[in-house]
Amino acid sequence: MKTITFAETQKQEPMKKLFLIVIAVIMLLPGCKQAVVEDNPFFTEWDTPFGAPPFDKIDDEHFLPAYVEAIRQQKEEIDLIINNPDAPGFENTIVAFDNSGALMRKVSPVFGGLRGAETNPRLQEIARETTPMLTAHSNEIRMNQDLFQRIQTVYENRESFDLDPEQMRLVERIYRDFERGGAALPEEKREELKRLNERMSMVSLQLSENLLAENNGFKLILEDEADLVGLPPDVISAAAEEAKKAGMEGKWVFTLAKPSWTPFLQFSERRDLREKIYRAYFMRGDNDNEHDNKALFAELMQLRQQASQLRGYDNYADFFLEEQMAERSENVYNFLYQVWEPALARAKGERDDMQAIIDGEGGDFELESWDWWYYAEKIRGERYDLDEDEVKPYFTLDNVRRGNFLLANKLFGLTFTARPDVPVYHPEVEAFEVTDRDGSSLGVLYIDPHPRPGKRSGAWCGTYRSGSYEDGVKITPIVTIVMNFTRPAGDRPAMLSWDETTTYFHEFGHALHNFFADGRYRRTSRSVPRDFVELPSQILENWAGEPALLKEYALHYETGEPIPAELIEKLSKSEHFNQGFINTEYLAAAIMDMDWHTAVHGDEIDVNAFEEATLKRIGLIDEIIPRYRTANFGHIFGTGYAAGYYVYRWAGVLDADAFYAFKESGDLFNQELAEKFRYYILANNARYEGMDAYVRFRGKEPSIEPFLRQSGLL
Ligand SMILES: [Zn+2]
Repeated sequence: MKTITFAETQKQEPMKKLFLIVIAVIMLLPGCKQAVVEDNPFFTEWDTPFGAPPFDKIDDEHFLPAYVEAIRQQKEEIDLIINNPDAPGFENTIVAFDNSGALMRKVSPVFGGLRGAETNPRLQEIARETTPMLTAHSNEIRMNQDLFQRIQTVYENRESFDLDPEQMRLVERIYRDFERGGAALPEEKREELKRLNERMSMVSLQLSENLLAENNGFKLILEDEADLVGLPPDVISAAAEEAKKAGMEGKWVFTLAKPSWTPFLQFSERRDLREKIYRAYFMRGDNDNEHDNKALFAELMQLRQQASQLRGYDNYADFFLEEQMAERSENVYNFLYQVWEPALARAKGERDDMQAIIDGEGGDFELESWDWWYYAEKIRGERYDLDEDEVKPYFTLDNVRRGNFLLANKLFGLTFTARPDVPVYHPEVEAFEVTDRDGSSLGVLYIDPHPRPGKRSGAWCGTYRSGSYEDGVKITPIVTIVMNFTRPAGDRPAMLSWDETTTYFHEFGHALHNFFADGRYRRTSRSVPRDFVELPSQILENWAGEPALLKEYALHYETGEPIPAELIEKLSKSEHFNQGFINTEYLAAAIMDMDWHTAVHGDEIDVNAFEEATLKRIGLIDEIIPRYRTANFGHIFGTGYAAGYYVYRWAGVLDADAFYAFKESGDLFNQELAEKFRYYILANNARYEGMDAYVRFRGKEPSIEPFLRQSGLL
């Protein structure tokens, strides 16, 4: 998904209680400061390998005082910039600002990382306290008029400073950040924007917390073995283990974690139970209970609209998209509709095929959304002669990891070494050192594969430390990939579905981007448009299914035999399988996201009615539910993917075309292309961005054909 950075954490986080909390914190400090400072790891140098966070020494109670101190220090640093008696220049203003917040950069990624991957009620409580503090802090910086004036002076005189292209971009980037953040607005509007930012960050936080509670709030508990009819043995034993963990030994528990509900829908012959679990899944956030997200989401839409209009934009999409490759909502809609038409037509065909099976079996019912996975599985078996159970033994968690490492080695010459001496935050997390072709260290990669109640759903890549330069010396990044993959069950190792396998390559691609990014300045080092950032991740998914790589990493977990050519053939033939559904459920969510962020919202928003109107307009069929419904659309609760859920398919055009370059060359591991890809797409974002970077790599703009062909839509 995305990288957690200081800037994003600030943006995410938002009030009336603000003053009370700040005062409370200040009052608390004098009494406890000494004790807390002494053993608080955030106030010491980290003498761990690679200077990785000492998770074993970090306690929940360290975060609040660390944040308070980080805010204080950054304020002091900003004051130094403002009060510098010298005229505003590149170093004393722009670079000094880019470097400010060292302690914040230490605290925020650890707090944000743990809140995503290993949270607990205390961390959630601390987030509710720190969120308004951090938003106020960020507001104060972003709208600081003295600071803005210095930045503006440098910006206006930038031609006179003899800056190289990377420095020039840094000046322009930072100036734009302030402008977009509202610094140039008159005071009254700035105050209003601050208020909106504070409220938005609290609403976002609450939406995500509700979603986590809803994810954990449902369990399908089965007591009768007959209820398991149709389920494969590994799915059954995983459910038995889930029950054991929940203190219900002898029963079977299915949850709303993907590795649990997906196989249930694929294989359970119990239509009533399929309905029960799928309904629980798509109704998350829409249950009219204490975790209902509808009213909060409606408020968020109003707040985003107000904040955008205050800044002179018609709507939030306009505000967001001007920084993206797509530039305008019209371009996004045109692109989405271009794919929507063939995808929907295909989905209708798939539906008819399934209905024919139902009718053929004498089932006297209409296909419903909770039947889709089940009949899709039947079609996969019949038409493609492909049984997931036949494939899975080749895709153990270890094998897939090795496949990723191998690919990085073949393309870029990287090697990976397990480093059990690097502290981790949970025993399931493993740390690896990443070494470049020339033997130099590129940093540390954490891998956290399985679901836990404290982990949010989905898969993502984040950093505990971004790569940067300090006094010309490279500080290597500490990167993490976090997934929710199938656990080992019984005495069998964890075996991944094909979807999980490609997700692994996807997140690993984001990680490589972090390891290679090599800009001299923090703000621009890995700065790419959101609709570009999925190119480095999605392109790797293409290699996952190539025979040349498969025969090296997909080895049977018992026999060690590589996956047979005949099975690879089946896998590749089934690539177009179910693509109508996959594209349709995704595009429906992407269009809904665009509708939410381009509509003119009044005082009253009926969230479900709005959603229904969108789905009706685009003609979504009843048998498909959007990949996310509004009340559980976690991607758009924060600012990262709001008006930006389209980016996956947009970048899909880029990655299919980029991969096609390798195919075309006749060498999937073409070194010249790999080197260019690394240089223009991954390493030098500070100098080349978006289409410019792409054209430099590819020699031309991307064509949509490889993408449509790959999705089976051409
Ligand atoms: Zn991604």
